[in-house]
Amino acid sequence: NWGHKLKIPSFIFTSNVDGHFNRAGWSEQVLECHGSLMRLQCLEACGQPIWEPMDKGIPLVKVCPDSLLCTSSLPTCPSCGSLARPNILMFSDFYWDSSINLKQERTLNSWFDINASKNLLIIELGAGISVPTVRFFCERSMKEYDCNMVRINPRDYQVPKGSTALASGALEALELLDLMLWK
Ligand SMILES: [Zn+2]
Repeated sequence: NWGHKLKIPSFIFTSNVDGHFNRAGWSEQVLECHGSLMRLQCLEACGQPIWEPMDKGIPLVKVCPDSLLCTSSLPTCPSCGSLARPNILMFSDFYWDSSINLKQERTLNSWFDINASKNLLIIELGAGISVPTVRFFCERSMKEYDCNMVRINPRDYQVPKGSTALASGALEALELLDLMLWK
């Protein structure tokens, strides 16, 4: 909303794998650093490019909310028929197909090339320290592109010098900032 209202360029860097930002209307300006559950890849790496099952009319896997067991047939590769897996990066995952991730990285780098001189602000939301990919990205970008940063986090809100910490949950802080922006 801020991007639209203020007519400013913006980009999402997320470790969410649930396709949240795509459902919220973002398509191109997103880097999903751990991949996405909304895409599948062939378990046997037969050469089939990553696919989005909904695009091919195949429903996503249905899971029983009580037992957490799959209640539909498991998805298979449209090329070779092998089992498909979610295109998300797991721990010690040497078989993750990173091709879409690399494309998103190129898009982000081009975005920085165009916008780096525009007094950028990084708003980091709930990025923890146990898997610090998002924190590292924000801190690195802050230095590399001389950005300001606001870190919103109820627990791990320590910040590098020159940035701002808000010890709060993300929704609460964003709603307060939104009120302040438009009053
Ligand atoms: Zn295959």
